[in-house]
Amino acid sequence: MLAAGALATAGLLLAACVPATQVRVPSPTPPAASPSPSRTPHFAPGAARSDDRLFPELGDGGYDATHYAITVGYTSSGKAITGDAVVTATATQDLSNFALDLRALTVSSVTVDGRPARFSRAGDKLVVTPATGIPLGATFATHIVYGGVPKTYEAPGLGTEGFHSYAGQQAIAQGEPHVAASWYPVDDRPGDKATYDIAITAPVADVALAGGVLTAKTPASGGRQTWHWTESAPMASYLAFVAIGRYRLHTSTHNGRPVLVAVASSLPTSVDRVLAQTPRITDFLASQFGPYPFDAEGGIVHDDPVFGFALENQTRPVYSAAFFRNTSTSYQTSVIAHELAHQWYGDSVSLAQWQDIWLNEGFATYAMWLWTEHQGGASPLQTFTQLYNSGKLPKEAPGRLDRRHIFDNTPYNRGAATLEALRISIGDAAFFQTIRAWAAQHRYGNGTTDEFIALAAQISGKNLVPLFTAWLDTATRPAFPKRLPG
Ligand SMILES: [Zn+2]
Repeated sequence: MLAAGALATAGLLLAACVPATQVRVPSPTPPAASPSPSRTPHFAPGAARSDDRLFPELGDGGYDATHYAITVGYTSSGKAITGDAVVTATATQDLSNFALDLRALTVSSVTVDGRPARFSRAGDKLVVTPATGIPLGATFATHIVYGGVPKTYEAPGLGTEGFHSYAGQQAIAQGEPHVAASWYPVDDRPGDKATYDIAITAPVADVALAGGVLTAKTPASGGRQTWHWTESAPMASYLAFVAIGRYRLHTSTHNGRPVLVAVASSLPTSVDRVLAQTPRITDFLASQFGPYPFDAEGGIVHDDPVFGFALENQTRPVYSAAFFRNTSTSYQTSVIAHELAHQWYGDSVSLAQWQDIWLNEGFATYAMWLWTEHQGGASPLQTFTQLYNSGKLPKEAPGRLDRRHIFDNTPYNRGAATLEALRISIGDAAFFQTIRAWAAQHRYGNGTTDEFIALAAQISGKNLVPLFTAWLDTATRPAFPKRLPG
């Protein structure tokens, strides 16, 4: 994630370098215990909330979603969508009922394993009561038919997010952490990752984009066609997106993977040329972080003026056109490097608690520092030193942010500074071994700050608690780091 305004600020702070808790997190939902064959189930409602410290209202308990098959229909005559979703999940308790996040849209029918289920709405929750209880460990499929006009969210520090229609009935669904429930029923917590099939039916004059691999385009009624996308790697719910409208498409292959780059047709073709550098930037990042984790890559630049940010949507980041207006090419490629770095740190390795956002944004900002050096600019040490001495190092503790501030400058610049402080403390070899091992060991899963600290300590053989306490948990400027002895 990058907000256009926030990055402009960062660029000013670091003009020469960058173009343009002690309370720790629990692990993601533990695997369900194996039910005993002779056990008597005790059915109870799943918790209609999650254990996230900052956004407990997002997400639900009692099950683990494993796959979403979503079909969204869109016409050029209005802003309403039709939706059809099959959510496959495994019960992590004996369930008498369970909830999904779903905002505003009207539900017309729900079945569980093919049998009609009762359902009700409670705020942004859809509560489903199956005909019979679902025992712990059972896999079940919930089929929801829904539709209506999606309602966006207004998020502090970020603005509008969610499913949004704009100019001439184009549409885009994008945001963090709020977006998924505005267009599909979901267990909307990053700890519950799942694979996705997303089919979008749109007028034939438009393109309909999502993440992953395009598997088919099929004719549909009313002068429309359906675009079928498959994301086969587990994905956090906020990383799923759709973009419908008028785009120039460019397809190619890179290291055997399909590359799809799309630029809103209203934008100049100079944007296409910059976005075409995506494979080259991906290669550089892979040289730093290890193998690229997914089976597709690319990027999309839209022209919806309401969304002023870029987001690391899995396999295919989605960028606001604002990043490409009156900015230098080096700035633009730095933004691309940021979002592509999230494919390793944020997408493949996802946070389990939103308060760990520095694990996403600190790493992606550090990737910008690495990219700047690769382009012949300042080294990360030089960038860090200038930031440290400028008096502009954020004073807030990135490990203790509240929900209003998770996309402030703090997790970005102080998060990246924390990584450079680690690098100075343990040396280049242990540092790069740590961040590569982090990507490898938690690939397609989730990770916590505690787990990252433990990994760095294990690889370096050093006590890193004082370092991370100072940089992540203490709201003052830490001492300038130095190489730890031993
Ligand atoms: Zn980011």
